[in-house]
Amino acid sequence: MKHPIFSHPLSALAIAVAIFGLLPLPAYWVTLANYIGLYAIVALGLVLLTGVGGLTSFGQAAFVGLGAYATAYLSTAHGISPWIGLAAGLLVTAASALFIGAIMLRLSGHYLPLGTIAWGLSLYYLFGNLEFLGKYDGIAGIPPLTLFGLNLGAGSSMFFLIWVILIAAIALLRNLLNSRSGRAIRALKGGGLMAEAMGVNTAAMKIRIFVIAALLACVSGWLYAHLQRAVNPSPFGLNAGIEYLFMAVIGGAGYLWGAILGAAVLTILKDQLQSYLPGLLGSTGNFEIIVFGILMVILLQHARNGIWPFIARWLPQRPAAVAPDAAPELPHRARPPLGQPLLVIDKARKQFGGLVAVNDMVFTVNSGEIVGLIGPNGAGKSTMFNLVTGVLPVTSGEIRFATNEGLRRIDSLPSREIVKLGIGRTFQHVHLLPEMTVLENVAIGAHLRAGRGVIASSLSLDRAEEAALLLEARRQLERVGLGGMLYEQAGNLALGQQRILEIARALCADPALLLLDEPAAGLRYKEKEALATLLNKLKGEGMSILLVEHDMDFVMNLTDRLIVMEFGTKIAEGNPAQVQQDPAVLEAYLGGID
Ligand code: ADP
Ligand code: MG
Repeated sequence: MKHPIFSHPLSALAIAVAIFGLLPLPAYWVTLANYIGLYAIVALGLVLLTGVGGLTSFGQAAFVGLGAYATAYLSTAHGISPWIGLAAGLLVTAASALFIGAIMLRLSGHYLPLGTIAWGLSLYYLFGNLEFLGKYDGIAGIPPLTLFGLNLGAGSSMFFLIWVILIAAIALLRNLLNSRSGRAIRALKGGGLMAEAMGVNTAAMKIRIFVIAALLACVSGWLYAHLQRAVNPSPFGLNAGIEYLFMAVIGGAGYLWGAILGAAVLTILKDQLQSYLPGLLGSTGNFEIIVFGILMVILLQHARNGIWPFIARWLPQRPAAVAPDAAPELPHRARPPLGQPLLVIDKARKQFGGLVAVNDMVFTVNSGEIVGLIGPNGAGKSTMFNLVTGVLPVTSGEIRFATNEGLRRIDSLPSREIVKLGIGRTFQHVHLLPEMTVLENVAIGAHLRAGRGVIASSLSLDRAEEAALLLEARRQLERVGLGGMLYEQAGNLALGQQRILEIARALCADPALLLLDEPAAGLRYKEKEALATLLNKLKGEGMSILLVEHDMDFVMNLTDRLIVMEFGTKIAEGNPAQVQQDPAVLEAYLGGID
């Protein structure tokens, strides 16, 4: 797989920047281009954080301020080199982003946006009230940047520096997004239940992207300070934080190119509006913000993904990740010998307040078996399943799983630790990333079998490992019969195929036990047959399967053993023929099944 840091669109941008910079253009154009570049660097961070990662921040301008004030203060008060000022700014920014990220990213829902608003406001007032930062007057007399003895004081020199940094940032983020870590970041949206189940530490990943976005903002602030040669608090307030978010959303928060587009559209629009609106309205003021607001509302109504998709339509489309034909093997797990106890449920109990959803359940799944957990709706099957997969903690009782060191308690482990031990799962309600390809979706399942992180991926040092991951995803897709759909968008698949995709994704984790929650739900007759054939084939290859089902017919010919639940309690256990004759089961099903 060829993956040069600069592929076509970026080289096109680089050439455009070179031409623009060398032409004798009016200074006004250069200034505008400089600001577009500066804003785009910040908006790029928001694409990663908000558009891709699903975390909204109104506080990016405060990080821009940290970058600007760090170098402004150090270079004017202490005569320290701006490059050391940059390092200092990055350090302060990383430390504060880690600190507030650790506090706020644990909060759910609206608390993160609210928290970033508070952060943006408080930093603005801090800048404005600190004596050594010049209070609301700020700091003037900031020296120009020099590079290898070259003075970058002129706007046209700064233009090159700003845009080279912007292009480099796009290249790094693009590499990052097309990697193991990038897929994990993209899986954060929608709650992270799936990501955690694939072994992603979602809390740590959120903090990482929060820090990356903050660092980009800081670099922009540093450039700004040396371009303007003076700083004061006003460009780092909440208004600016909101405008950065506008840029990302209007350009297309889900796309790296959306950051440049949004920054360009808003900067040019603002410039034009500021010269025409006051004349039109007969007084001065920040009227452009009203126009932005209206624009935002229209956009959210008609083009939620911003303007970029309308342009991307005209560009050649290629899949971001392509599976190679050969690659190094990923590590494999040692399998427990057939017939040995693999999963032992020992008086597992789950209460929701007064409701006993799982009532001291006892059963075992042996290696190489397909076991069905059946029962009418509301019997507690999914809850039992959530106890095994670590989504819910047990109220009492124990769950053990066979590992290299023998049976080990797993009932207090989080999901991502449980998948590490070898339990792969699918969901009753399909959880996939509809805009990603089938291949990329499935590659998320192999997250734990590789280890390259954010920095290695950004620098493209992960290519061998990435090839191995994508080849594994392709093999598992071929194994389940979806080998012909590698580069389809997952969201375009039929429900039956999406369920099979989830099985391939679970297989990517190289599990010893596969847990399937109602895999046949919503499938047509033919699809059910195909699914049963697949599960039998997996069993033939030594896989152990525990499947939750309420469709009796589906499990009858498929399973070795059935465990029947009703009202949280096990009412029968045996092979399908025995269970079918059991009076208690007949009673439960005739009374309850829909
Ligand atoms: P099944 O999957 O067999 O249809 P569930 O395990 O989903 O059944 O539900 C078992 C019982 O537990 C139901 O009465 C359901 O309402 C209740 N229940 C499930 N999850 C929760 C929860 N998070 N909070 C409260 N009650 C729940
Ligand atoms: Mg259920």
